[in-house]
This record gives sequence, C-alpha cells and structure tokens, in this order.
Amino acid sequence: MTAGLATIPLAALQALLRQRGQPAWRAKQILDWRNKGVLDPAAMRNLPAALRAALPEWLRCDPFTCVARQQSVDGTRKYLLQLNSGNNAGKRIETVYIPERERGTVCISSQIGCPLDCPFCCTGSQPFDGNLTGDEIVAQLLHVMDDLRRHPLDNGASNRVTHVVFMGMGEPMSNERGLHAALKALLEALGISRRRITVSTSGLVHGIARLGKSYPVNLAISLHAASNPLRDRLVPINRTFDLTRLRASLDDFPLPAQRHITLEYVMLAGVNDRPEDIEALAAFVNRRRERVNLIRYNPHPASHFTGSSSAQIDAFAHQLTARGIRTTVRRSRGDDIMAACGQLNSVLESR
Ligand code: SAH
Ligand code: SF4
Repeated sequence: MTAGLATIPLAALQALLRQRGQPAWRAKQILDWRNKGVLDPAAMRNLPAALRAALPEWLRCDPFTCVARQQSVDGTRKYLLQLNSGNNAGKRIETVYIPERERGTVCISSQIGCPLDCPFCCTGSQPFDGNLTGDEIVAQLLHVMDDLRRHPLDNGASNRVTHVVFMGMGEPMSNERGLHAALKALLEALGISRRRITVSTSGLVHGIARLGKSYPVNLAISLHAASNPLRDRLVPINRTFDLTRLRASLDDFPLPAQRHITLEYVMLAGVNDRPEDIEALAAFVNRRRERVNLIRYNPHPASHFTGSSSAQIDAFAHQLTARGIRTTVRRSRGDDIMAACGQLNSVLESR
C-alpha cells in the first residue's frame, strides 16, 4: 500500500475505486472530506458503510494518532502525533498551529528529530530517528484543520489554516523526497498557493537549487551568523556549505516580483549580537532580494545559550534598518508550552 489519502490526487483515487468495482464519482466525496481535514473514513457520513470499512485496506488513511494537544495562553496549539503504521510506526513528532486574527499558520515537521545539530536548537539535541513521507507531512496539516473545525478557538483568532511553514522538527532539505512529495500535494491536490508556503533550511545548497527548479515556494534560511568561523559553530552544516556557496545559491533562487528570501537570525547574547556581527550581516545581505527576521532565542533544557535582551534586539534591528536592510522581529508564540521556534522535541515531550 503506497498511496495515502492525505496526498492522493483525484484521478488516482478515481482509478483506485474503479479497480475495486466502486463508482469513480465517490472519489470526489472522499476528497471533499479529506480537504476539510477528515482522514478517518468512519467519519465520512455520506459513504456506504461497506466502502467506509474497505477504504483503509486499499489506501493508507490516517497515519497519526494524536496523543496530546496543548494550548498556549496566546491560542497557539501544539500537537504530539504518533505514527500508527508504516516504517515509522510508534514514533512521535510535533506540529504547531499559530493563530493570528487574519491568518492561521501550521508549522509542520519533516523528520523525526534532526540529523544536524545546531547547538542552540532543542530538536537538534534529540537523536535523529527517520524521515517522514510526503503523506505523513501533509497529514499534519489536515489534523490541525480537523481539530480546528471540531474545537475552534474562541478568542477571535483565525480557525482557518492559510499558511504552511516547514519550520517544525527536522531539516526539510535532508528529506527531499518527502519534502517534494508534500509540496506537490499541497500545491496541486490541496490547492494552497505557493505564496503561502515557506520552506526553512539551514543551508543545504543543492536542495535549495532543486527546490527553486521544482517548487519555487518561499524560502527561509537559518543564517544566525554571517561570518564563517561563527556560523561553523552555530550552524555546523556551514562547514560543508560555507557562506560563499550559500550566497551563490540564494542569488540563483527564483523569486517572483515583490517577494523576498527571509534570513532567520536567532539573537544570542554576546555570541552573534555584537557590533562586528552587524557589520558581517550588512556585508552579506542582498538588500534587494532578502530581508532579515530576528528571532528571540527560546530557552530549553538542552542548551546553555542566553537570549539577547529585548532592548538589544531592538537596537540590532534599528542598526540593520539604518543600513537599508528590511528587518522584522519575530514575536515568540507558544513558548509557555515549548511550542516556540527550536523548542520542539518529541522525546522530551514523551517523558
Ligand atoms: N531545520 C530547518 C527547519 C527548522 S526551522 C532550519 O533550521 O531552518 C526552526 C527555526 O527555529 C530555525 O530558524 C532555527 O534555527 C530556529 N531555532 C532553533 N532553535 C531555536 C531556539 N532555541 N530559539 C529560537 N529559534 C530557534
Ligand atoms: Fe535541525 Fe534546523 Fe534545529 Fe539545526 S536549527 S538542528 S537544522 S531543526
């Protein structure tokens, strides 16, 4: 059984049903449910009982069981999802929903843990335990949609998923097969605009080039330092793909008009927030095509860094802006439930 309900296109589902002696028009009914986030055939009320019972034998329906859901005081929800079948059966990942008034962003995981170990990142401290399939990546988003439909937020924030960011657990570019399969389904089967999808990477340049060719969605780079010695330490993949190679791959990445590549920069006190770091960053950034997003450091038990103070972050932002660099400061969301950037760790969570 290779196909999965989360990603299957209409024509493929029609063919599958026909092969099993079912009317092809049922495919549309099934995908109407899927597109609302429903992956459990038992809940598809307009299907005959026999078809509801048979579907999971023909097609992998829901790869996850939600084992815990936490909600932050700001409405952010974190889901601990356990794989119930496939090569990763029994393993757990985390997915986050970040509501705002006019938009709802799902932050999805691409791997179980992460093979790279950036020393300030909580996910990086968890042992790497496998890649997710495209179907398992997309199912995370569907789970969130279904949960919001059944248990809407009542604080005036959006209950509609409008944006998808690959900023959960894992390095998407070290699971390109899963990443590309997921993007294909998000864009084609689920009809999400490429302007609403962002892939974040620590800088695997070949993956960036292939993404630009196949699925030119929004790109975010975990930069965190703009000099090689410091970036070698903070983002170890820099020892393989240094800033010169990263620069070349960013310059080649296709960008539609009015769009920018985001350079993410986590603010670590005394480490990368010094005057020389501003100079290095100002020398690295391509002001026309890139903008800087300063991220407040989110502490977690596996790291010894201290975040820069709010005043320091503001001063840093101000100095970048004064040098003509578009700069924003990311508000931290969900940090009271360890759902903020770099805090996802399904092993700590399961203890
Ligand atoms: N592996 C990819 C996708 C993860 S995105 C990548 O690194 O880009 C998660 C983002 O949160 C990355 O920019 C990461 O560098 C950042 N991050 C990691 N640990 C953090 C922490 N403790 N506080 C704030 N941001 C962190
Ligand atoms: Fe992996 Fe990204 Fe964390 Fe680095 S920052 S360890 S690449 S998840």
